[in-house]
Amino acid sequence: MNDNATHPLKLFNSLTRELEIFTPVHPGEARVYTCGPTVYNYQHIGNMRAYIFADLLGRTLSWKGYQLTHIINITDVGHLTSDADAGDDKMEKAAAKAGKSAWDIAKYYTDAYWLDIDRLNIRQPAKWSIATDHVEEMIEFAKKIADKHCYECETGLYFDTTTVPDYGALARANTDEGEGRIETVEGKRNQNDFAIWRKTPPGETRQMEWDSPWGKGAPGWHLECSQMSMKYLGETFDIHTGGIDHREIHHPNEIAQNQAHNCSAHSGANIWMHNNFLIDRAGKMSKSSGDFLRLQVLIDKGIHPLAYRLMCLQAHYRSELEFTWENLVAALTRLKRIVMGVGKQRAKAAGNQAVIEHPRLVQIRQQLNEAISDDLNSSKCLPLLEDLLAQKKLPADQCLSLIAEFDHILGLDLLALKRSDLRVRSKDATIDETDIEQKIDQRQQAKSDKDFALADAIRNELTAQGVDLMDGDPLRWEWRIEI
Ligand code: AMP
Ligand code: ZN
Repeated sequence: MNDNATHPLKLFNSLTRELEIFTPVHPGEARVYTCGPTVYNYQHIGNMRAYIFADLLGRTLSWKGYQLTHIINITDVGHLTSDADAGDDKMEKAAAKAGKSAWDIAKYYTDAYWLDIDRLNIRQPAKWSIATDHVEEMIEFAKKIADKHCYECETGLYFDTTTVPDYGALARANTDEGEGRIETVEGKRNQNDFAIWRKTPPGETRQMEWDSPWGKGAPGWHLECSQMSMKYLGETFDIHTGGIDHREIHHPNEIAQNQAHNCSAHSGANIWMHNNFLIDRAGKMSKSSGDFLRLQVLIDKGIHPLAYRLMCLQAHYRSELEFTWENLVAALTRLKRIVMGVGKQRAKAAGNQAVIEHPRLVQIRQQLNEAISDDLNSSKCLPLLEDLLAQKKLPADQCLSLIAEFDHILGLDLLALKRSDLRVRSKDATIDETDIEQKIDQRQQAKSDKDFALADAIRNELTAQGVDLMDGDPLRWEWRIEI
């Protein structure tokens, strides 16, 4: 822990629907589990919002000096097409459709996901915990709770949700606020009961199946997260995160299993945190809607992926965020200005690691601490950063130290990113970059010769080729983004 921890960190706990002061289970440590992707397809940019949020949380905890252990899982088996145990396994279905093995599909989409994690400057967790590496331990977990809490029926081993106290408290399933809707599966005793082990149907062979006391089959998706979170973080750990859809079914089911496993009414994690959705004009962005935006589509338009990260940070994680290309381009422009501001400070600084002592900088740092401690209010941190960059007369080395602290939390790669890295990349340019530079030199010459007709003609020619001139920007020109 360090000085930054003196300001209490308040986080919104979905379990109590209240802001709570973070108090670690193990003093000086922070143990966080994040529900990761189901790797049957690419992650869309909405999914990536969930990991940007988890990364912001992890960065904040480590900035405050807690020793962070962050686990993110990879669901490569067990997630059905409905969150509530109906339908097919997403992996097997995708494999059949692509004519590939489920293992190949998992590998391909896990790699694609990791690439996007990297592009968004999301820090590596302590461990990527892969579900299929833990199946034996999941069976042990299920064996432990089977007698008291489960029953077997034709399709699998089911968890009886009436055997634990207050099932569904997280979802508020019994109040108007709850949105959980469970589909009926034959043989279930109670509507909310869920499979912890799914048997392979008689006469069928699945690509991913294991022997178990309940026959050949695969673990349920909820069992995976209960087992892996507690294996790596302990039976009581600090924070569990996921998208807000997980508040309704997946996390209530994890909690029920944790309670059964630990013979306790405690949910397993002290704080359950959920990011809200990225939406577009048609509603929530989802993979089942067919057409969805992935980070690669943004990059193909020429937009740097960190502009998307900034776009997410501009909103509070608990607010819905609407994706529009206009919002994204505005975030790119904001990022350019920030990066140019940092560049100016870098040019002035001598490069020494400076202690922040100047009263104005101490004050900004305090404001940063207050903003981020207020349930990770990243949108409030950004104007503080811009305020810092606008300071002209402060010691540059100290300014840079403070910028590094902002970046520790925000993860915009501010100390490495250059204005030129943010240059839009045009895929179908009809003119090359050296020609553009030459034309701009000619235009400047024409302007100093007071030949304004020629200067305008050159500008118009470049505009027609998709090039915008920017007097006053060190890059001088930029490809226009077609949105
Ligand atoms: P999945 O790969 O479907 O298991 O989802 C990965 C993560 O993305 C989960 O934490 C989901 O709750 C989250 N998620 C799904 N859709 C969205 C969305 N439109 N906006 C933000 N998060 C989402
Ligand atoms: Zn999970």
